[in-house]
Amino acid sequence: MTTRPSIELRHEVTRRAGNRCEYCLFHQDFAASTHQVDHVIAEKHRGPTNSENLALSCTMCNRRKGSDIGAIDPETGQLVRVYNPRTQNWLDHFEVKDARIVGLTPEGRATVELLHLNSYERMAERAELIHAGHFPIKSEI
Ligand SMILES: [Zn+2]
Repeated sequence: MTTRPSIELRHEVTRRAGNRCEYCLFHQDFAASTHQVDHVIAEKHRGPTNSENLALSCTMCNRRKGSDIGAIDPETGQLVRVYNPRTQNWLDHFEVKDARIVGLTPEGRATVELLHLNSYERMAERAELIHAGHFPIKSEI
């Protein structure tokens, strides 16, 4: 059972994220379902329901992440932490190449794998958004 954040907290998280998923950068305006407020550290791992532990997440990323806080870096096989949007900077861990999100660090690579950020459907959708100018350029992240 997950504690639902208050409306005010949800608005704060959404505003801070610029209405984009903090994992894959997908904007709410183009999503079929409403972005969710994710506990970066799940409550079962003692993560609190406060601003410092919440992130905006699209349904796809949130479903894939679940309560996971660690994943395997596909390059080294090592268990590493999942990317934390509260304590880490997206551009330090990922880059966008064509429509692909590339992990630059162990955490970045593990997160790309765990969240299936480069599934066929997600890349096709991202390619359309990039083509239409609706996927962020570096200065917007
Ligand atoms: Zn996402």
